[in-house]
Amino acid sequence: MYTFFIDELGSFLRQMNPLKKRIGIIGGGQLGRMLLEESARLNIHFNVLESDENCPCASLAHTFIKGSLMDPAKIRELAAISDVLTYEIEHVHTEVLLELEKEGKTIIPSPRILQMIQDKGLQKEFYAKHQIPSGKFFLVNNKAEWQRLIPLLGSEKFVAKTRKGGYDGKGVAILNSANILQNPELIPFDGPCVLEEFIPCEKELAVIVARDQEGNIVSFPSIEMEFDPEANLVTLLLSPASVGSIIEEKAESIARRVVEALDGPGLFAVELFLNQSGEIFVNEVAPRPHNSGHHTIEACYTSQYEQLTRILLNLPMGSTEMVQPAGMVNLLGAKDFSGSYALENLDMVSKIPGVFVHLYAKAESKPMRKMGHVSILASSIDEVHEKAAVVSKNLRFVKDPS
Ligand code: ADP
Repeated sequence: MYTFFIDELGSFLRQMNPLKKRIGIIGGGQLGRMLLEESARLNIHFNVLESDENCPCASLAHTFIKGSLMDPAKIRELAAISDVLTYEIEHVHTEVLLELEKEGKTIIPSPRILQMIQDKGLQKEFYAKHQIPSGKFFLVNNKAEWQRLIPLLGSEKFVAKTRKGGYDGKGVAILNSANILQNPELIPFDGPCVLEEFIPCEKELAVIVARDQEGNIVSFPSIEMEFDPEANLVTLLLSPASVGSIIEEKAESIARRVVEALDGPGLFAVELFLNQSGEIFVNEVAPRPHNSGHHTIEACYTSQYEQLTRILLNLPMGSTEMVQPAGMVNLLGAKDFSGSYALENLDMVSKIPGVFVHLYAKAESKPMRKMGHVSILASSIDEVHEKAAVVSKNLRFVKDPS
């Protein structure tokens, strides 16, 4: 009876006072770490679930639960000590989140949205249903269906994606249609896949859109990405994208339409392709803070991380306006070693004004692993490029010499 009273009082206070709310994050990677760092100013209580106790969030979480993101019991343990739940990675046990949501737990974004996004086939069907431009596609389950449907895509090249489980370009293959039709043994994936028309891309863009619990929607200025073709990771990101105001408005409007159709609160990164005729296609959506929004920490009045915290706490959203043009360089583990590391030329790079180095507290460096990033602010995109070239050339992970 007494415990019941204390619990009720606690929940009443938390409803009255957003600062008393406890946020639970499923996943303890760098996106979670920056959510904690950016919300530390508000003194919010964060609980984190992650299997690796040396993960980027471990040293910053108020309560750390060690456990698999696929373990329903561990997710329930996190839910029991948190007023609101979110996730910083898509590969989590969704069924238990759907149950928890039914039981009345606030989960943002809704697991209904997560479940759809986890399956690239359902995502494509969702865009088609809502008349959101996203390119032609077919869902296939076996090689005979590949052979039958590739010709109907009508493009010289096409893109095959496993419906579930892919990330950072894994589970994605760009293939030559004639070659695969003649040599079906070269089909790279078994099981359910999406086959997409290849969209000749002038630029890859992203727009981060935030939607609060009242249904208000705001978007961040667009982002333009440059990729390392080998690792398929973003190497330089620029914001705002150099696309002109008409394309900028079109990109923002399509991204907002996606989030309106998703029909629930959260922070969403909408990845877009711009082709040479100025047409825009949605590639995919991430229902969480995104690599392409790291720069917002320094470059926008409200970062993507703070925006998500405001949404989770049911506070009004902040301005997404930019302070200055910005860039972001991912810091990746060197290709030639794994293990304990040092960062070469940190002193030199630290002297450049408007350069902000972020390190993710990863225990070990591994080839091409995301170890940190650098945000760059400047008075023009040209100047961002200049500073980014110095950063990329000099800042490197090397074997720890000590
Ligand atoms: P992941 O979710 O693993 O990041 P994506 O679906 O974003 O995979 O695909 C990875 C990359 O492959 C994209 O960033 C883009 O460069 C390329 N790509 C994906 N789909 C297409 C497409 N339909 N047309 C052209 N390029 C594509």
